[in-house]
Amino acid sequence: MKRVSKIYSDSDASLDILKGKKIVVLGYGSQGRAWALNLRDSGLDVTVALERQGNSWKTAEQDGFKPKFTKEAVRDADVIIFLIPDMVQRTVWLESVKPYMKDGADLVFAHGFNIHYKLIEPPSNSDVYMVAPKGPGPIVRDYFVRGGGVPSLIAVYQNVSGKAKEKALAIAKGIGSTRPGVIETTFKEETETDLFGEQVILVGGIMELMKSAFETLVSQGYQPEVAYFETINEMKMIVDLIYEKGLSGMLRAVSDTAKYGGMTVGKRIINEDVRKRMLEALDRIRNGEFASEWIEEYNKGMKTVINGLNEIDNSQEEKVGRQLRELTQKGRPK
Ligand code: NAD
Ligand code: MG
Repeated sequence: MKRVSKIYSDSDASLDILKGKKIVVLGYGSQGRAWALNLRDSGLDVTVALERQGNSWKTAEQDGFKPKFTKEAVRDADVIIFLIPDMVQRTVWLESVKPYMKDGADLVFAHGFNIHYKLIEPPSNSDVYMVAPKGPGPIVRDYFVRGGGVPSLIAVYQNVSGKAKEKALAIAKGIGSTRPGVIETTFKEETETDLFGEQVILVGGIMELMKSAFETLVSQGYQPEVAYFETINEMKMIVDLIYEKGLSGMLRAVSDTAKYGGMTVGKRIINEDVRKRMLEALDRIRNGEFASEWIEEYNKGMKTVINGLNEIDNSQEEKVGRQLRELTQKGRPK
């Protein structure tokens, strides 16, 4: 078995290394808001930087920040944290950060995409590190406020000062992640596993599996409502069980018939062929093919994404789902 990774906790991290440093958070969206608020509550000096005076600007003001334009904010920043969408980071970097930033300021990321695929080529005298929370921004904030935190991965890409990892741990602590624990990774590992996960299982795999099962039942004359409950709606309960009790806990909670059928038929559905295609997907992530394809799609206006979303909105499973979800909501204990 592979070694078990070291888990960093509160006592492995100190905020001192960031005390008195000017931290600039680029973006005030999902992660940006959560980080800015948590870091400020942790006693650090945080400025929110934005490209324009839109909704994020207003929200930041309501939360008590005095947002600045990026070009101005980065001038005296010691630590610059990129919390704008991955696909806009390169442009903002080239136009508003790189020409104006203080020489040697730290560059911090919440996902490795731009550094790993070299969309951003950092100056050689900057520390470059990552803190990647394993949960959406609003949860990062909510757990923190309630005394907890969302676990994070940290990684160091450039370590000019010799203190990059300490600073990554300090930021992780400042957003609450050392409360549950932090694991060290690399930009390469984080980027490749993140893309693999969302493509093969979390977004792509799970969705197509549910759709295929639903459509199979409906094509054989079963009622769409019954099919929806069985192939889509019940997923949550099963995944919750796995989340709380692991695969074995889930298996122990279902009937023996479900255990036997699941164990024997599951392997025939998700077979060697599927694993081969998973590896192919991983290869395309590793050799940069997926990244180039996605950047091109993004630059052309994301037609595939927009059309795909439309198609799903109008699919039978979604129409049935909209009705049935109301029923499920009604049944939820208050
Ligand atoms: P987001 O989409 O919520 O970011 C929105 C912010 O970016 C807003 O303040 C908006 O004004 C600004 N913005 C949007 N378009 C812009 C543009 N063209 N130019 C300048 N600013 C623009 O972003 P997010 O989901 O918080 O992601 C930020 C980073 O965190 C990404 O690197 C992402 O991979 C990473 N991350 C996100 C999550 C998540 O759950 N959302 C989890 C882990 C890591
Ligand atoms: Mg992802």
